[in-house]
Amino acid sequence: MDRRTLLKLLAAAALAGCDTRDKSATPLKIVVAGAGIIGASIAFHLAKAGAAVTIIDKEGPATHASRGTFAWINATWAKQPRSYHAFSQESVANWHDLQQELDLPVRWGGSLEWFDNADRQDTLAAQIAEQVAWGVPARMVSAEEFTKLEPGIRPGASITAAFSPDDGAVDPVLATHRLLAAAEALGATLRYPTTLMDVLLTNGRLTSVITSSGSIPADRLVLATGAAKNLPEQIAGIKIPQRSGPGVIVVTHPAPRRLQHIISAPGVHMHQRDDERIVLGEQDGAPDNDAHTVRLQGRPNRFPDPAIAEQHATRILAIAEKYSPGIAGVRIEHVYIGWRPLPIDGHPVIGASAERPDVYLAIMHSGVTLAPIVGQLAAQELTTGVTIDLLKGYRPDRVFEEIKRY
Ligand SMILES: Cc1cc2nc3c(=O)[nH]c(=O)nc-3n(C[C@H](O)[C@H](O)[C@H](O)COP(=O)(O)OP(=O)(O)OC[C@H]3O[C@@H](n4cnc5c(N)ncnc54)[C@H](O)[C@@H]3O)c2cc1C
Repeated sequence: MDRRTLLKLLAAAALAGCDTRDKSATPLKIVVAGAGIIGASIAFHLAKAGAAVTIIDKEGPATHASRGTFAWINATWAKQPRSYHAFSQESVANWHDLQQELDLPVRWGGSLEWFDNADRQDTLAAQIAEQVAWGVPARMVSAEEFTKLEPGIRPGASITAAFSPDDGAVDPVLATHRLLAAAEALGATLRYPTTLMDVLLTNGRLTSVITSSGSIPADRLVLATGAAKNLPEQIAGIKIPQRSGPGVIVVTHPAPRRLQHIISAPGVHMHQRDDERIVLGEQDGAPDNDAHTVRLQGRPNRFPDPAIAEQHATRILAIAEKYSPGIAGVRIEHVYIGWRPLPIDGHPVIGASAERPDVYLAIMHSGVTLAPIVGQLAAQELTTGVTIDLLKGYRPDRVFEEIKRY
């Protein structure tokens, strides 16, 4: 679906007129739990729409997945089926608008991706052919063109790679802070550390949200609490099956420019931001051994000590050096652990709980890519009462099938 069709659909949804709210009433009081990039985007769009917004976070802005993320903004072949691809593509387009509006730190230029086995490469070529058939400007590039596009990378002898020119990457922490600051400038309140504990209902309607620092009057609650997997059941009475796994992200100190594109190489992802920091992510999850199982039980979002963080960074840098020898010697600034908020069918969960209609869930992977569109559409549903058709495949009460997309 192109941008114009989407906008028409949105306008039609608004005109369909299930808006039951009294326009002269005081603004809706909405608490957004979770100050990651999703909560921040929803809060910003809600504040823009005139809601009285309070954002709470148990730790602080961008301290979980929205910090330990690779932050690749994309609608590549992996976004399936086509409706989800179009949804992601629309969000990529929305990033441009949001970037301009709030001066967000996004770097565009596209991605280059390849694999190290012939069968997977054949599948990649077929996946890119499908993208082309869908009107996406992706293409396979030869080794020669690759080297022109990305002189600092040595992908291997006769490689072809997928080039997706519309992709970008963002500094997710700075973007989250800017979204929150923009929400605050529009009157929103940000409170942390403040943990969501429960909700208080009066005659079946939400009246306040109970937190670790007191209760907050609320007409609606948004659960943008990422990989906190038990909260939807505890607060909204609905179980969202998730298979969240951890990933390690390395951010270097600013370094001379070595990378022009987002690189998805076998075993490692890398890009270099506009602030010249290089971001590296590993493709595989945590090593499958007892020591890790024990360490990961409590879902830590920090390493237990700097030596372990350094071991991980050294391992990931060594893989990156195989493709980008120039990376050797860069100084590491941060090593993060991120837990993917990942509903088991790989698609976002967006919408109110049937059990508790005043609680609106927004839990998803590829949340960096999706933050602009989810913020915009969720705010529209919450403040006008319209039901947006485009979100119907992502409702929390759908049947969740286990589908491995990431
Ligand atoms: C390793 C890794 C790589 C990734 N790469 C990409 C990528 O390249 N592109 C992409 O689009 N996406 C990527 N993702 C996914 C993306 O980062 C997430 O989908 C996105 O950050 C989710 O944002 P969020 O705001 O929903 O969650 P989070 O950033 O996790 O925020 C949730 C917040 O809720 C708070 N919270 C939890 N419980 C409570 C409570 N009880 N009370 C109050 N606050 C609470 C937490 O403190 C946290 O701050 C990646 C994720 C990981 C982990």
